[in-house]
Amino acid sequence: MFSNDVYVQELYKILLGNNVHWQNREAWVYSKGVHTRYPFQGALYGLPPNVIKECIVGAIEARHGTSKKSEFQSFPADCIKDRATSELSDCCADGAVPVTGKTPRHEEPVPPQNKSENFEEFIYRMWGAGIAKHFAIPYNKKLWTVSLTEMETSWLGGRVPLPDLEEIIDGALQPVGKPMGPNARFGYPLRGGFQAMMSGFIPHIKGSIELNADVTRILPDEHLIMLGDGRCFRYENLISTMPLPELIRVMDDEAPQQIKDAAAALRRVSVRCVNLGVGRENITNKHWIYYPEDTIFHRIFVQGNASPGCNPPGGFGLTCEISYSPAKPLPCDGQELIDRCVEDCIKVGMLKRNDKIVTANLVDMPYAYVVYDHARARSVETIKNWLLQRDIILSGRYSEWEYYNSDHAFLAGKKAAFLVEQRNSQPLTYMVNTDN
Ligand SMILES: Cc1cc2nc3c(=O)[nH]c(=O)nc-3n(C[C@H](O)[C@H](O)[C@H](O)COP(=O)(O)OP(=O)(O)OC[C@H]3O[C@@H](n4cnc5c(N)ncnc54)[C@H](O)[C@@H]3O)c2cc1C
Repeated sequence: MFSNDVYVQELYKILLGNNVHWQNREAWVYSKGVHTRYPFQGALYGLPPNVIKECIVGAIEARHGTSKKSEFQSFPADCIKDRATSELSDCCADGAVPVTGKTPRHEEPVPPQNKSENFEEFIYRMWGAGIAKHFAIPYNKKLWTVSLTEMETSWLGGRVPLPDLEEIIDGALQPVGKPMGPNARFGYPLRGGFQAMMSGFIPHIKGSIELNADVTRILPDEHLIMLGDGRCFRYENLISTMPLPELIRVMDDEAPQQIKDAAAALRRVSVRCVNLGVGRENITNKHWIYYPEDTIFHRIFVQGNASPGCNPPGGFGLTCEISYSPAKPLPCDGQELIDRCVEDCIKVGMLKRNDKIVTANLVDMPYAYVVYDHARARSVETIKNWLLQRDIILSGRYSEWEYYNSDHAFLAGKKAAFLVEQRNSQPLTYMVNTDN
């Protein structure tokens, strides 16, 4: 967890108390057979000389090239807070945007938005051909599974800095030190995993919580909500955290064709997590690693290092994240997928051939990333307005169909609660599903 927002920082304290561990992040990239620190362009040292040269020349051309003066994108709402305050952060540490950890020195005012620019063009224009070729394009293609020309750039957030040439050259000539400062820190519950933070809400909720309550049908005009077990509730205002396409699906014929079409147009990336429990201690001191090349996973989250309570004695836990979608189906599944991850972990030096895999499992995230294609904004707006007219308020990453980090999701909940209050609501019924 990480947030620049003071309200969220206070929330962390209320929800977790002392059950939290803060530490400086160790975020790395593995490419060309070496580990380099993230962000890629700020720590080229150790890469082959021709790669470094291409990255530096490309960055110089992007900054000072003969092409037009660089333009800048506007900010998406969810990232403004983080990025406008002082320092830049990478939403969800997904590595999609190779930002610097520092306040950019070469930042310019936001010009009128160039709506026609796609993500691929944006990458070449902002970071130049070398960084594009060796990290930004292959990594983002792997993560997003679709052609980057099909994506727009409003989600990128914050003022995207032009490459800081001094930083790039410094980082190419000598090893880069551990990142420092508040933005280099992240927290994780000492005990109980990330769920501990959600459980922290329970004593503060004034109202009943229905557990294992799958919403299976909604009648928006009647203001009725039905659960899988047949129970039915009437609402005044409904705050939904369900994935937006699912919300429209459970309305069935109650939603007009235009709304169903807009929901059907929403594209997403799913993630299959392969969790590995390895019979060896201290496998690595890194926290997460981005893999732009040919491993099946695009990122490994080193779950075992998230807090001192995460690894059992003698063991170590890793999560390999594999994105997939209709555009890029999973190449295999089950034990075959686990074996493939283990093999690739050996290939990149994370595991040794003789390491014992004590346990392994798969966790599917059917909704993991919202694809910002060129139709997204209009579709979301259409659905959102139609729902609001029926007292349904969207709140959260998959509900608002936004690239939210968990701190943004907290703020989305706060915003939704205020909106209901403004609409002079009746008491709310809070619904929590513990299956997921
Ligand atoms: C791979 C990955 C890694 C991430 N890493 C980080 C990270 O390191 N840090 C970070 O801050 N964020 C991270 N995120 C983002 C973070 O997970 C989300 O921003 C956050 O979970 C969004 O919260 P939410 O409440 O909007 O949605 P969710 O967490 O999806 O919550 C939605 C809720 O709605 C309920 N629900 C859904 N459908 C129904 C239904 N039909 N009936 C009843 N209930 C229903 C679900 O059970 C769930 O409780 C990551 C995301 C991914 C995909």
